Amino acid sequence: MTTNIFQDIKDRVDLRDLVRYYGLDVNRGGFACCPFHNERNPSFKVYEDHYHCFGCGEHGDHVDFVQKLYGISNIEAAKKISHDFGLGLDNGELAIPVKPRKPKPRKDEGYELWLNEATHVIIEYKKLLDYWNRVYNPRSPIDEVDERYIESLQERGYANYYLEQLLFGSDDDKRACYDTDRDYPLVIKNRLDKLDAFSRKVCKSNTR
Ligand SMILES: [Zn+2]
Repeated sequence: MTTNIFQDIKDRVDLRDLVRYYGLDVNRGGFACCPFHNERNPSFKVYEDHYHCFGCGEHGDHVDFVQKLYGISNIEAAKKISHDFGLGLDNGELAIPVKPRKPKPRKDEGYELWLNEATHVIIEYKKLLDYWNRVYNPRSPIDEVDERYIESLQERGYANYYLEQLLFGSDDDKRACYDTDRDYPLVIKNRLDKLDAFSRKVCKSNTR
């Protein structure tokens, strides 16, 4: 009657067996990939009676691990361990609802590709606009104003803003470009494709 279920679990189950049972791949050095933060190289060290993650600082024992992994209370976690390892510590109350783990967000490859392509295209366009702005700047008031100069005036602001978001913005900023105006780089790419090879070449040789 005075049995402490938490201590019993520690006494009877090796923590390394426990984390393996719940899906961790523990290597010979006792390290596994941490289930509590995203990582590729194992920094989650599992000892006989406690664990410690050198990546995110998570630390605890058997019950802490199961509690955290499944998002359940410590009593529920203790009962679950008792059930799963047949320890008989839970007075037969085995029906423990376990919340499913949230799946890790999958990498959005479409977005990654878009981001890469978009950045290149806008950099190219911005170089071109800067070049036009220098070269076609009317020297005197009676000069006819070149339409490329006008385009540079009209488009540089947004192109600069957009590029700043892609290069120096937070993940949210980049996402916002994707969510609100993901076609812009495509429009620009079409614009660049239409320009004759000569003007592109001139641009490239004059800028860095
Ligand atoms: Zn961790």
